[in-house]
Amino acid sequence: MIDYIERLNEDYRFCEGLKACMNCGMCTAICPAAAVFDYDPRKICQIMQKRDNALTEQLLASDMIWYCGQCIGCRTRCPRNNTPGYIIQALRKVSLQTGLYLKSAEGRKQIKIAKTVGENLLTKGYCVDIDLVKPEMHPEQGPMWEWVYANRESVCNRCGGNYHGDGAGAQRKLSDETKKELFAILRETGGESLIRKIQNAE
Ligand code: SF4
Ligand code: SF4
Repeated sequence: MIDYIERLNEDYRFCEGLKACMNCGMCTAICPAAAVFDYDPRKICQIMQKRDNALTEQLLASDMIWYCGQCIGCRTRCPRNNTPGYIIQALRKVSLQTGLYLKSAEGRKQIKIAKTVGENLLTKGYCVDIDLVKPEMHPEQGPMWEWVYANRESVCNRCGGNYHGDGAGAQRKLSDETKKELFAILRETGGESLIRKIQNAE
């Protein structure tokens, strides 16, 4: 069995987060995901504080770690100024690297995300490029999104964005230099190879 604890200990978000947690449960009380899913950030901290490799493997292969919405609301209430959402980030990374996410229905959704959001990031430099969020790919958004998509330039600019423009602002044009730098970061940190591996998982 892989030593998951050792892998997680390489990530400061995990080490510092676990050290700081006193298991008070304030994060669970504020967490929107805990209100609707079988999800409990305090419990995840408690499980991990046991430093049990078999339990860790179960957690990394479970749906639970994929319910966090990464809103970081937990940080605003934790009396230790801790952020369980960051611990979840570290757990997800190891789950993705080791392939354990494939054992979870929620985790397998990462394949689709890697093919859309991940591909956008690797080719456009944006996680969400509005041009690529085509209404036919997201029928759940209904006719409102069809209208927004058709009028995306004016909607984006009326909301303070800078659609395909120079300078600052959401949905701005990224310069070749910026993209080169971003792609180099993704390549050197292993982000690119991890996204490609997930895209090809099925
Ligand atoms: S609020 Fe902070 S200290 Fe309390 S359980 Fe959550 S992370 Fe741990
Ligand atoms: S970041 Fe995750 S754990 Fe923290 S409050 Fe948001 S959903 Fe809950």
